[in-house]
Amino acid sequence: MSDTNFLDWPFFEPRHRDLAKRLEAWCRRELPRDHSDVDATCVRLVRDLGQAGFLEGTAGDAIDVRSLCLIRETLARHDGLADFAFAMQGLGTGAISLFGNAEQKQWLDKTRRGEALSAFALSEPRSGSDVAQLDTTAERDGDHYRINGEKTWISNGGIADLYTVFARTGEGPGAKGLSCFLVPADTPGLAIRERLETISPHPLARLGFDDMRLPASAMVGSPGQGFRIAMSVLDVFRSTVGAAALGFARRALDESLERASSRELFGASLADLQMVQGHLAEMALDVDAAALLVYRAAWTKDMGAERVTREAAMAKLYATDRAQQVIDKAVQLHGGDGVRKGHIVESLYREIRALRIYEGASDVQKVVIARSCLAQQETVRQE
Ligand SMILES: Cc1cc2nc3c(=O)[nH]c(=O)nc-3n(C[C@H](O)[C@H](O)[C@H](O)COP(=O)(O)OP(=O)(O)OC[C@H]3O[C@@H](n4cnc5c(N)ncnc54)[C@H](O)[C@@H]3O)c2cc1C
Repeated sequence: MSDTNFLDWPFFEPRHRDLAKRLEAWCRRELPRDHSDVDATCVRLVRDLGQAGFLEGTAGDAIDVRSLCLIRETLARHDGLADFAFAMQGLGTGAISLFGNAEQKQWLDKTRRGEALSAFALSEPRSGSDVAQLDTTAERDGDHYRINGEKTWISNGGIADLYTVFARTGEGPGAKGLSCFLVPADTPGLAIRERLETISPHPLARLGFDDMRLPASAMVGSPGQGFRIAMSVLDVFRSTVGAAALGFARRALDESLERASSRELFGASLADLQMVQGHLAEMALDVDAAALLVYRAAWTKDMGAERVTREAAMAKLYATDRAQQVIDKAVQLHGGDGVRKGHIVESLYREIRALRIYEGASDVQKVVIARSCLAQQETVRQE
């Protein structure tokens, strides 16, 4: 049983507590799922989450980041694949929610009902962290664009019904020359070139665009706005990656408390050993500190802040890095069982790693935080 006292923190309103309660009950009935066919499981999870109403807040004009974080934390605590399936419905449609027109927003009814899966296609073989250098081109051809290039590491690649794709339209150099496009999966010229396998299996693919023709109306926002769109989407969803890490860490702590209380060693319980208590204390501290940063960032955004770049970077960096440590301690406290294939802490150990890489690696978050502090210092100096 997880500690839910954090729900009494002033970041939350009664509707958040109600959401957490309803979702917890759903998770206990529905999760975990069988992961032997991740594609089919994700499609099914999206449909079931949609039918239960939990995808309602993933897209639209007013995204409540606290709700997204609460849902991701709860799903991650029960089943990493359920968290992944949920998260992609928001990330993949974020550009449409924030910058799309009325026609493009019609897709959102389907994604919120769980009838269409979405994907966010930004990364390329040559430009992961260095997004501004991306090579995929979109050339104007009358009232169409012709897209050529490649995207990689695309979550939901191969099972998505729509992709938001970022490409170079050339209005300016680097970040100033990118635009965003809504690409239905059945568009001729879009190919799934490779399915990618990772230590914790999720649907992932490398995509190719071979002279893919799109009507000019497929552009989300205006020409040259792509980089701003991508960063705005990440600004909303980055805190939620921290929330997923928090869910994994909380599960690792729960499992460790249970293990320490029930395992007998040297004529007493494991929990009686002071060094074990030290580990448990550090794990609990990391979980609470991560939760404070995650829900601070989410609350700040929900209160109307236009950008929460620094708060979201802190939340993501701290929650993902510390979750790795919490889970590592959980593995240690479980002894041999901790590395046994199929054990929950073994799967958490594999599940957490990618979160420190995607949506901005930990090192990149440090750069973001430091730049923000330095800019603030400069402003104070000039006042
Ligand atoms: C499981 C998974 C799912 C993903 N899903 C998606 C998705 O849905 N859509 C999408 O577009 N992309 C996705 N990605 C791609 C992800 O965003 C990139 O992998 C990430 O941005 C890092 O890019 P890269 O892999 O090219 O590594 P590189 O850019 O080569 O970076 C490698 C390492 O260099 C270091 N580094 C990079 N920049 C700096 C810096 N400025 N200062 C200091 N150190 C630095 C970091 O340690 C970094 O991990 C996913 C990746 C994974 C692993």
